[in-house]
Amino acid sequence: MLTPPWLEPMLKTKFFTHCAEHREMPRNECNMFCADCFEHSSAFCIYCRTQKHSDHRVIQIRRSSYHEVVRVKEVEHLIDIKGVHTYVINSADVFFLNERPQPRGVGAAAGKAAASPFFCEVCSRSLLNDFRFCSIGCKLARIKSNGDTTFVLQERDGSSESSRVEGENTGKLTDDFGECRDGSSAPNDTKSASLRMRTRRRKGIPHRSPLSS
Ligand SMILES: [Zn+2]
Ligand SMILES: [Zn+2]
Ligand SMILES: [Zn+2]
Repeated sequence: MLTPPWLEPMLKTKFFTHCAEHREMPRNECNMFCADCFEHSSAFCIYCRTQKHSDHRVIQIRRSSYHEVVRVKEVEHLIDIKGVHTYVINSADVFFLNERPQPRGVGAAAGKAAASPFFCEVCSRSLLNDFRFCSIGCKLARIKSNGDTTFVLQERDGSSESSRVEGENTGKLTDDFGECRDGSSAPNDTKSASLRMRTRRRKGIPHRSPLSS
């Protein structure tokens, strides 16, 4: 999938301002973005949508704890979000548009995240589950830094998904567990936890944690 030309403009757009054209209306927050009009249109409100973008590919931006999110279902046909951390908020899968400031508190959520072995490959934010990016913005940054114009990611270095799935390497599965090979004295618990993790990922079942907000 090619990197959608409207993605970067959307990530740079300021949302949740009040629409200048619909000042008198009650719901005039600019929380929409049009993938068809991105070259000459910015964020707009629901009345603008009805008037100007009724047949267009409009993306609705939502907020979670003051950060902008988009529902997976509403954009999965437009962007490949593979590798991007998703959360369930109000019973819908969402992902963040942009990198967020790192948590500094020592609340339960922050402590949990800090104990996680998963990090965003771009901004190093700790992630609750085994995803590669905290946001679509970080995924885009990685793709751009690779000089790749497509929106398809290379597999992680040294972890060819296919070799694990084929089953021909079953006899030396431990080769996949970097820290466990070379006769290191990792306790069995760690190893089996790691195994379970791999198994889950191979089946491609995403694991999500609800945000605590
Ligand atoms: Zn408007
Ligand atoms: Zn439009
Ligand atoms: Zn990130």
